[in-house]
Amino acid sequence: MNTTKKSIMKTKPKNKPLRKCVGCNEMKEKESMIRVTKDVLGGFQIDETHTVQSRGAYICKNADCLKKTLKNKGLERSLKCKISDDFYQTLEQVLNAYENGSGAVSS
Ligand SMILES: [Zn+2]
Repeated sequence: MNTTKKSIMKTKPKNKPLRKCVGCNEMKEKESMIRVTKDVLGGFQIDETHTVQSRGAYICKNADCLKKTLKNKGLERSLKCKISDDFYQTLEQVLNAYENGSGAVSS
């Protein structure tokens, strides 16, 4: 009988990558944030699935952090460019949707 008592650890990612929110400047798990990326045309994109290979900034899924980043310009600093009010509005809508629990649920 072969009784090798080697505890086979399941390889689950213990250290989740943390990202810094541009609003509250706290480090949080990527899953609890949304990512904003800059696209090649100089516009912006909300990358909810964190798959876009581009320069990106992270913000918590709450409207408070958006207000904070509007004040501290953290998002603009992070993406190194001016962000239009239009985009902030879009972002606000998305964040509000998350807060209300009716946001895009990736299942
Ligand atoms: Zn935040």
